[in-house]
Amino acid sequence: MGLELEVGPGAFVPRTETELLGETALEALRARPRGAGHRVVDMCCGSGNLACALGSYAQGAQIWASDLTDGAVAVARRNVMRLGLEASVHVGQGDLFASFDGIGLEGTIDLITCNPPYISTRRLENERNTLLVHEPREAFDGGPYGLSIHQRVVSEAQAFLRPGGVLFFEIGLRQERQVEMLFRRTGSYGAVEMRRDAVGQARVVFASKL
Ligand code: GLN
Repeated sequence: MGLELEVGPGAFVPRTETELLGETALEALRARPRGAGHRVVDMCCGSGNLACALGSYAQGAQIWASDLTDGAVAVARRNVMRLGLEASVHVGQGDLFASFDGIGLEGTIDLITCNPPYISTRRLENERNTLLVHEPREAFDGGPYGLSIHQRVVSEAQAFLRPGGVLFFEIGLRQERQVEMLFRRTGSYGAVEMRRDAVGQARVVFASKL
């Protein structure tokens, strides 16, 4: 998306497929006029790539990003400074939404982006194990089915989204039906939509809070 970012051992190197999530979220923000500016959360921010892209291109948006590890948070904060986005992008640290406890975000968020770890532990230890050579396991390991973090975020996001606020995920190949089911099982989200990449694979799944 045209940004120059720092990377480091604490966070994975942003992949091109994540531009689909960035572009989809940006399009949604632009389609939602809002006087006071949009309120956005980027959960599992890694190097801060999505938060910085939205902060750079969505005029007037306030963005709260979060990740679990010291390494990712340090790289994300460096990128926010490097791009001069300190006034609009805030990086917290904690276990998913725990980093936002008590700062008044509940029920106010227009849009959440999340590129969680989504490779199953077994694949990560076998056919995808080269991912672990230079990048942290926490960035990729999505538990036994690769969907553990999507599941937690679908559940925890409900408290933070305002009615009509949208949760956008990046997903791995062929995870779309399962992620759709995670949304539907809560009974708290509307119709589940998808975006496909240039070869027709669904890589972004999203739904709005009722
Ligand atoms: N996009 C990465 C891959 O498929 C995985 C990133 C992730 O788990 N979020 O290699």
